[in-house]
Amino acid sequence: MSVLVYVEQVEGKFKKSVFEAVSYAKAIADQQGTSLSAISIGNVADSELNELGKYGASKVLKVEADQLKNFVNQAYASVIAEAAKKEGANIVVLSNSFSGKGLAPRVAVKLEAGLIDGAVELPTSDFSVKKTAFSGKAFAITTLTSANKVIALNPNAFGVKENPTSIAIETFSPEVKSSDLAAIVKEIVRATNKVSLPDAEIVVSGGRGLKGPENWGMVEELADLLGAATACSKPVSDADWRPHSEHVGQTGIAISPNLYIAIGISGAIQHLAGVSSSKVIVVINKDPEAPFFKVADYGIVGDAFEVVPKIIAALKAHKG
Ligand SMILES: Cc1cc2nc3c(=O)[nH]c(=O)nc-3n(C[C@H](O)[C@H](O)[C@H](O)COP(=O)(O)OP(=O)(O)OC[C@H]3O[C@@H](n4cnc5c(N)ncnc54)[C@H](O)[C@@H]3O)c2cc1C
Repeated sequence: MSVLVYVEQVEGKFKKSVFEAVSYAKAIADQQGTSLSAISIGNVADSELNELGKYGASKVLKVEADQLKNFVNQAYASVIAEAAKKEGANIVVLSNSFSGKGLAPRVAVKLEAGLIDGAVELPTSDFSVKKTAFSGKAFAITTLTSANKVIALNPNAFGVKENPTSIAIETFSPEVKSSDLAAIVKEIVRATNKVSLPDAEIVVSGGRGLKGPENWGMVEELADLLGAATACSKPVSDADWRPHSEHVGQTGIAISPNLYIAIGISGAIQHLAGVSSSKVIVVINKDPEAPFFKVADYGIVGDAFEVVPKIIAALKAHKG
C-alpha cells in the first residue's frame, strides 16, 4: 500500500500544479502512514526530477521511451497503471489539468479504482473527499469505498507545500502496446508564447463592456505588466473580438488562477461556472448591480476606460 503521483512535464519542466499535486499526494501518504512515489513520462533531466523530493516524493520512476516523448492519452494511462501495480500503490493522484482530466478516468478503469475528479480538499478518515460539481457551481462530498482510488486535484486548491526528503530516481521501462499508440501526437505547434490560460496564476479577462476588439490594448497591457494570461466572455469570442481559445466559462475553459480580474463582464452564471474557483476575484464594472460583484473579493464600480489606465499607470509607477 502506497501512494503514486503522476508528474506531468511540459518540455522537460514541471509546472507549479505538479508540485501542488506532489504536496497533496504526500499529505495523503502521511495520513495513510505510507510512502510516496512519482511517475514521470517523457524526457526530464534528473536535476528536474530531484525537485520532486522537495515536496515529499521519496522515489520517482522515469519512463523515457521514444514513443512517449509527446503526450498520448491511452499509452500514458497504461504506463501510470503499470507503475501503480509495480509500486503496490492503491492511491493514484494527478493534477486535474487538461491532460489529467483525460488520464484520471482511464487510469481508474485500468486499476478498477474509484475516481474523484476535481478534488479540493484532503480525504477524511473514511476517505470522503470534497470536490467541485456542476461546473464549479456546487461542491459534492464523495466517499470512495473501493480498494484502489484515483484522485485528480483541482489546480490551486491545496497549494504547494515543501516537505523535503531524499529522492531516488529509478528507470522504469514498461511494455508499450501498439494498441495504446493508435492515436499519437506527431507535432506540437504553439499558437502563442504567452502564458497558457489553464496554467496562468493571474488572468485578466474582458467582456462586452469593452465595446470592441480595438479596446483590448489596455487588457493586454495590464496582463503583460502582471505576467498574466488574457481571457474573455463567450459573446466576445462569438463576435470574433478575441480567439475562442480565450473563452472561459461553462462552455469554455474552466480556470482557477490565484487572481482573476474581470473587466466589463456582467457575471452571468455560465461565465461564473468557469471562473468561480479562482482564489481572488477582482471585478471592474460600471453597473453597481452587476451580478459579478456578489462573488467578487474586490470590486471597483467605474468605467473600465478610466479605471484600467489608472491601474496600469500605478503598476508602471510601482515597477519603476
Ligand atoms: C448555454 C449557455 C452557455 C453559455 N456559456 C458561457 C460561457 O462559457 N462563458 C460566458 O462568458 N458566457 C456564456 N454564456 C453567455 C452568458 O449567459 C452571458 O450572456 C455572457 O457571459 C455575457 O457576457 P458579458 O458579461 O461579456 O456581456 P454583457 O452581459 O453584455 O455584460 C457587459 C457588462 O459590462 C458592463 N459594462 C459596460 N460598459 C462598461 C464600461 N465602460 N466599464 C465597465 N463595465 C462596463 C455592463 O455593466 C455589463 O455588466 C452562455 C449562455 C448560455 C445560454
